[in-house]
Amino acid sequence: DDPLRATASAEPRFTTVPVKLGERAYEIVIGRDLLAEGAQRVAALAPGGAVAIVTDTTVGGLHAVAITDALEAAGLRVARVEIPPGEGSKSYAEFARVCDALIEARIERGDLVLALGGGVVGDLAGFAAASLRRGVRFVQWPTTLLSQVDSSVGGKTGINSPHGKNLVGAFHQPSLVVADLALLDTLSPREFRAGYAEVVKYGLIDDRAFFEWCEANGAAVFEAGEACAYAVAKSCAAKAAVVARDEHENGDRALLNLGHTFGHALERAVAYDGARLVHGEGVAIGMALAFRFSARLGLASGQDAGRVARHLQAVGLPTRLQDVPGDIGDADSLLDAMAQDKKVRRGALTFILARGIGESFIARDVSRDDVRAFLADEFA
Ligand code: NAD
Ligand code: MG
Repeated sequence: DDPLRATASAEPRFTTVPVKLGERAYEIVIGRDLLAEGAQRVAALAPGGAVAIVTDTTVGGLHAVAITDALEAAGLRVARVEIPPGEGSKSYAEFARVCDALIEARIERGDLVLALGGGVVGDLAGFAAASLRRGVRFVQWPTTLLSQVDSSVGGKTGINSPHGKNLVGAFHQPSLVVADLALLDTLSPREFRAGYAEVVKYGLIDDRAFFEWCEANGAAVFEAGEACAYAVAKSCAAKAAVVARDEHENGDRALLNLGHTFGHALERAVAYDGARLVHGEGVAIGMALAFRFSARLGLASGQDAGRVARHLQAVGLPTRLQDVPGDIGDADSLLDAMAQDKKVRRGALTFILARGIGESFIARDVSRDDVRAFLADEFA
């Protein structure tokens, strides 16, 4: 069941991972230098039609011209809508602006929206596509490692409310995902590392062998070559399998939140200041905490918890509360931040805990006192 072996082609080199969702099924194309291949696949979705590239100004400045040229060469009319970079763009104001710009660009029901950027662009453009004319198809063309291994797959789209992250949105599956590793060459090392935390997550959830592969090959992944292609394909296949089982997160899909309950609390604690903590860094600390907490509860071995932290540290990711610069409050304030997480059901804390590496599970009704005592020790 190696996702690479089944579909790898010699020339040009790319891999495809299917997302098996019946009528909403689509493919993720993974490889280096996918401009021509990707553009042809986009054009095949809407022959002779129009595509609106939604991107942020940073990514747009680096990559939009090349992609525009490739799409035009494939016979599409191309429009471009740019948003400011950063989480702040997942807002009502930018959502409205993007929708109006798509209407002005005469994007019709049969046309396409193409999200060129990281998770911010993907979430916002996807939600705009879901809403425009009650739904137009969209393509994810992710440009961060995080978006290539996580946010571009699975169909969750949306924006933030002043009340919290991702509170307004829709499930809207893309029609195609093009993960071109060459685009990662311009990504900052810090953003690359943050995305890598989500790669490691898939091993920790249910694939110990893949975690061990990460231990052996993690450094090579950062070169955005073959090892990276393998890591992206494995990650996408893992996420696709979960999404195919539980598209709307009624059960299993929650496993993908390993490390995220603690991680989100830390992101709140720094008021989403990316200079102090980006999402993947919060997830890295969160995964290390989830394993130490699991060990403390007698579920997992201390050895596995130590091994998780060591690998994350080895690639330069943070693993301790002390690794977050500045004041992040205390055990009680972090607990309050967790209680505001939308994964809270009727006051009980839901965590993804582990019996070991690759043996994660959904633990409902986790005692707040246990969490508080654990966090107090982590702060000490
Ligand atoms: P991002 O989209 O903000 O991108 C990070 C930064 O990198 C931005 O400043 C961007 O301009 C820049 N950038 C992107 N690609 C670049 C490139 N190739 N070269 C140079 N710079 C580049 O952040 P992200 O980490 O990709 O995504 C985070 C968002 O994803 C969050 O809003 C999160 O909620 C969302 N997310 C969604 C899902 C989902 O299932 N929908 C899953 C995980 C995360
Ligand atoms: Mg995440």
